Amino acid sequence: MRKNIVAGNWKMNKTLQEGVALATELKELLAGAKPNCEVVIGTPFIHLSAVSQLVTDSVINVSAQNCADKESGAYTGEVSAAMVKSTGANFVILGHSERREYYLETSEILNAKVALALANGLTPIYCCGEPLSVREKDAQEDFVKKQLDETIFNLSADNFSKLVIAYEPIWAIGTGVTASTEQAQEMLAFIRSLIAEKFGKEVAENTSILYGGSCNAKNAPELFAQPDIDGGLIGGASLKSVDFKAIIDAF
Ligand code: PEP
Repeated sequence: MRKNIVAGNWKMNKTLQEGVALATELKELLAGAKPNCEVVIGTPFIHLSAVSQLVTDSVINVSAQNCADKESGAYTGEVSAAMVKSTGANFVILGHSERREYYLETSEILNAKVALALANGLTPIYCCGEPLSVREKDAQEDFVKKQLDETIFNLSADNFSKLVIAYEPIWAIGTGVTASTEQAQEMLAFIRSLIAEKFGKEVAENTSILYGGSCNAKNAPELFAQPDIDGGLIGGASLKSVDFKAIIDAF
């Protein structure tokens, strides 16, 4: 059965000390009743080891926000999937629109990253989603289908079933504009129907698909109540432990 997941994406925020403090606060807030969803925090690379050690005895999972498209070697400044795994992290966010836009990550690069993440035992949280210009033309379904066709739809059913998908319309990321509940549910149902066509109904039913884009404690309950929305990828609201906990409590 698919899991409900609330995953934070800290992006390039928090010094190491601030990040450890945030993870400590969240761990304390979650020390009581077990949440009704899996909890993941996506930290910068330099936090991964310290945060992973800190949360070993808690419900919190740790994610990187990226990994290299090469296995190892002379790639100055890069961090490999094996290195991420060695910190204790078990997830990696791949294909975030900020990586695609600012760091020119193509489908080819993403295919290499996804393959290396899977080969190293990391669960990719694979992001997709359209820019505003595409939504304005009502062409979002074709756009997202192409993103999936060029990347994770090339995986074997076995490998595909190991990943999590996050639909994040770019116009909703960090803008305070959330996709309406109907827009989010419609797109996630569409993605699930594509998965069913490609890999079969059982794989589709077992794939966790998250919504991301200005999700907060106020809109999360309605979003998470939709039949195809299995949780959220949370940027801004994951930077405050109380706000993030309130989103987790939406399940
Ligand atoms: C994100 O960057 O993945 C995201 C969803 O950001 P925000 O919640 O701030 O819109």
